[in-house]
Amino acid sequence: MAVPRHQSSVDLAARLKVLARSCVVAARTSLSPSLVEVVLQGDAVVLAGVAGNDVMVLVETGERTLTRRRFSVRAVDADNDTFSLWISTTHDGPAARWARSAVVGDSVDIVGPRGKIPLDDSADWHLFVGDVASLGSFYRMAQSIEVPGRAIFIVELDSPGDALTATFDDELGVTAIFVDRDGRSPDDSAGLMSGLAAFTLPPDEGHAYLFGEYHVMHAIKTAMLDRGLRSEQISLKAFYRVGQSNGPNGEPSKDL
Ligand SMILES: Cc1cc2nc3c(=O)[nH]c(=O)nc-3n(C[C@H](O)[C@H](O)[C@H](O)COP(=O)(O)OP(=O)(O)OC[C@H]3O[C@@H](n4cnc5c(N)ncnc54)[C@H](O)[C@@H]3O)c2cc1C
Repeated sequence: MAVPRHQSSVDLAARLKVLARSCVVAARTSLSPSLVEVVLQGDAVVLAGVAGNDVMVLVETGERTLTRRRFSVRAVDADNDTFSLWISTTHDGPAARWARSAVVGDSVDIVGPRGKIPLDDSADWHLFVGDVASLGSFYRMAQSIEVPGRAIFIVELDSPGDALTATFDDELGVTAIFVDRDGRSPDDSAGLMSGLAAFTLPPDEGHAYLFGEYHVMHAIKTAMLDRGLRSEQISLKAFYRVGQSNGPNGEPSKDL
């Protein structure tokens, strides 16, 4: 196993009881106007964990300064020992810059697997609400749904070209509502609210996964509770927060 380049990665992984590993960039592809796919090689199956999990990536913030950012695993290829990340590059930040400029053969410190929101196996339907940053995680989770089952995606996109698709089991019922951001700010919930309003929730037991901008996800959670979902049927993860960089733990601030 390749040793991480930074002792801080080893210490962090030991504290979290997960793996620290120096992975190698195996590929980088521009998938759409907003999304870059980075494929990493090394201990892929362990680092990728289960659907819904993410990894921490150590990126440079400037000369000699480093921070960590979290990215969900999109897919794992056990045969080639690789896993992929779908990274939004709509904004400017250290991780977006890393994703834009990563070169095959580069090494990067990875700590993982992370994350506490797996698929709810008891749910009859799974509702995924978020933006382009959550697409990779949503597709991996939906691909792990036991069939027959139902996946509903309500996702706000910055550009029509971001409407990437995925292949699902024929027995999985899939509904996708892509909402055009139409120039609205990432902390404006109006687009996703209108997408939600256009959809009637199925009658049986379901689970909603809300991954995206802090304010928008909290507004959507309130709307879901108003529509009769119980709080245990809702898993919310703030991915970023408008106007603020994520902290060194890779998460946006939870301060009001
Ligand atoms: C558990 C978890 C899993 C995640 N999985 C993914 C994933 O699979 N793919 C993915 O793309 N992101 C994912 N994210 C979100 C990603 O970690 C953040 O967007 C992170 O802020 C990007 O770091 P950065 O260094 O580019 O920007 P930062 O330095 O954190 O932020 C710089 C500026 O850009 C803004 N900003 C940051 N991210 C976005 C964004 N996505 N859209 C618009 N503005 C933004 C900030 O508000 C800030 O003003 C995940 C986050 C978490 C916590």
